[in-house]
Amino acid sequence: MKIICIGRNYVDHIAELDNIRPDEPVIFLKPDTAIAQPNLPFFIPEFSNEVHYEVEVLVRINRIGKHIQSKFAGKYYSEIGLGIDFTARDVQQKLQSKGLPWEKAKAFDGSAYVGTWFDKASVGDLTALPFSLYKNGTVVQEGSTSHMLWPIDGLIAYVSQYFTLKIGDIIFTGTPAGVGPVEKNNRLEGFLKDQKAFSLIVK
Ligand code: MG
Repeated sequence: MKIICIGRNYVDHIAELDNIRPDEPVIFLKPDTAIAQPNLPFFIPEFSNEVHYEVEVLVRINRIGKHIQSKFAGKYYSEIGLGIDFTARDVQQKLQSKGLPWEKAKAFDGSAYVGTWFDKASVGDLTALPFSLYKNGTVVQEGSTSHMLWPIDGLIAYVSQYFTLKIGDIIFTGTPAGVGPVEKNNRLEGFLKDQKAFSLIVK
């Protein structure tokens, strides 16, 4: 399976990192080795002094497809989740400043944290789905899929022009504003609407 991530999909997050609003979705990939082991802590890698959380709505693909039209995209997933796109921000900034690819900053082992999956029918309107991230009990990110520049079905259509989507592939759909660093012993808890999607500890 593969993990397809969308960057710069929320205007408020683009602004906080001083990035330019893209005119088409920004895409990068993570390998399957990036998936965090369930029930283990997130371990800050030694090569970074500034790892950020980025809470994101996730979609799990349930059938193979290519050149999927937006109007049919809903047939390609039945589950929605919430996860964290852990990012070594210091490494990313260094790579970006040289115009180099982001993989070392974005695709390292454990960088793709995936919470509980929910039946999409159980979470309501996917185009106005609120979600939040708490760090040590304090809310640090709050978003809604209604603020996406490209909504879920449009992303599936776009991504599938380039990559055949296969069963089990996961799309990270981008993060809203409020990203920030993690430190040892932080507890991160994610909520999709009012349902708890994950709780993890940083080590
Ligand atoms: Mg992200």
